[in-house]
Amino acid sequence: MKKSYTCIVCPNGCEIVADFTEKVIVSLTGAGCKRGGEYVRQEITCPMRNITSSVGVLDGKLPLVSVKLSKPIPKEKIFAVMQEVRAIKIQAPVKLGQVILEKVLGLDSDVVATKNVEKI
Ligand code: SF4
Repeated sequence: MKKSYTCIVCPNGCEIVADFTEKVIVSLTGAGCKRGGEYVRQEITCPMRNITSSVGVLDGKLPLVSVKLSKPIPKEKIFAVMQEVRAIKIQAPVKLGQVILEKVLGLDSDVVATKNVEKI
């Protein structure tokens, strides 16, 4: 089977064509560097994504704090993780880098604040 991927590892956005069978890559063309091959291999075997979102803050100067995951998670878990993140409410103050939820849904990734929110 042949499939095209746009590499998202760097801004070059190389169009990489992979020829593969049963998750074994036969050939790769179009990658500008070896990281493109690694990206396509990951996409074929277990695509991973990171999430940025926001979480409700109680008694904060802002009603929300932006968050991200500490590590990418399997793409098929995104919906379940987003539901978990949307349900979180955290008490102010919130510190940049603060772990808001460890190992979300048992995955090897934490929900981390990406800004400060002071208490009212
Ligand atoms: S293949 Fe290499 S050069 Fe091309 S977009 Fe991916 S990381 Fe960048």
